[in-house]
Amino acid sequence: SFTAEVVPQAPEDALFGLMRAYRADENPDKVDLGIGAYRDDNAKPWVLPVVKKADSILFNNPELDHEYAPIAGIASFTSKAAELILGGPDSPAIREKRISSIQTISGTGAVHLGALFLSKFYPGTKKVYVSKPTWANHHQIFNNVGIPTVEYPYFSKETKGLDFENMKLSLLSAPDKSVILLHACAHNPTGVDPTIDQWKEIATIIRQKSHFPFFDTAYQGFASGDLMKDNAAIRYFVEEGFELVVAQSFAKNFGLYGERAGCFHIVTGPAPEAQSTITRIASQLAILQRSEISNPPLYGARIASTVLNDQALFSEWEENLRTMSGRIISMRKALRAKLEDLGTPGTWNHITDQIGMFSFTGLTEAQVLKIREDAHVYMTKNGRISMAGLNTKNVDYVAKAIDKVVR
Ligand code: PMP
Repeated sequence: SFTAEVVPQAPEDALFGLMRAYRADENPDKVDLGIGAYRDDNAKPWVLPVVKKADSILFNNPELDHEYAPIAGIASFTSKAAELILGGPDSPAIREKRISSIQTISGTGAVHLGALFLSKFYPGTKKVYVSKPTWANHHQIFNNVGIPTVEYPYFSKETKGLDFENMKLSLLSAPDKSVILLHACAHNPTGVDPTIDQWKEIATIIRQKSHFPFFDTAYQGFASGDLMKDNAAIRYFVEEGFELVVAQSFAKNFGLYGERAGCFHIVTGPAPEAQSTITRIASQLAILQRSEISNPPLYGARIASTVLNDQALFSEWEENLRTMSGRIISMRKALRAKLEDLGTPGTWNHITDQIGMFSFTGLTEAQVLKIREDAHVYMTKNGRISMAGLNTKNVDYVAKAIDKVVR
């Protein structure tokens, strides 16, 4: 039977454990800087106004039913998702029909489907190189399908920026044809992204070593407020003719966390047989999808599709993205300014240099536990804070708490 030797007790998911501890805390000053979900200035979840509009359009559409979506998902959604990540219908991969897109269970499902596909069909070195650190789920997802993860250096503790030289050395010394997982923008958990020139150098190494780029994009438009800025790395790789895959989440940029809207894309390089390659790949992806979920969920994809296919709604969405990213960027500025005003030991420029949902503060595990105990400020043990948890009412309080704990 399932004894403890056979099925040992697994540790609780660290992030969800943190959430539980926060909820149980009765201190009125408590601050949640744990989970990566957007909050407004009142620390409340925010339904994007454009999503509310799309919602009412769907609600009033008598044609909609609850039949199964196609196995590959809603085509009006996946085709626009592809255009969004590749920068429009003029992307060479779209013009030359070298892309296959399949709707997934948000970004997690997209990473999983990609990992599963590679586990069955990737002809190169079946090892995936992930940044140290990376979104913890990457390790589990790849390991679960039998692809071991290997870490490449990424974050420099000294500069709290990119450890670019060691990252490059690691990619150079990896076996040829390894899979390289890259965060397209707003790296989770560090908030540190390569510059476009650094992306070009990364691309050169990946080409030289015949590695395979696996992009994870969960923050397009949410990071900078500019959809084209946040997909620049992927666009560059596609323009350079790489064969690659993209796992795309719409959780953050549409605020559709629980609706699980996502997409997995595979792009082949330009070649005479590219289209038949894509057709073969799509046929295999459909079989994997069928055995995993049969048909992807409708609602979130319908919302995103409604917005992505309507010019006026699309513009409104861009405005909503600027609202979210703008608030987060202003909180970065406020936190840094406050820490510098307080003369908090250390340098704090990394708070505004980093981008997206998260900041790697540089606080040690002991400091993280102490700030939780003393000030009821909750963050993950690695010192990562969700910027969305900060607002005009608590940023001074948090800065003072950080100041106290690092002194
Ligand atoms: N990749 C990264 C790097 C992420 O940060 C996230 C969200 N935490 C995801 C993928 C996927 O999230 P979801 O499944 O909610 O779309």
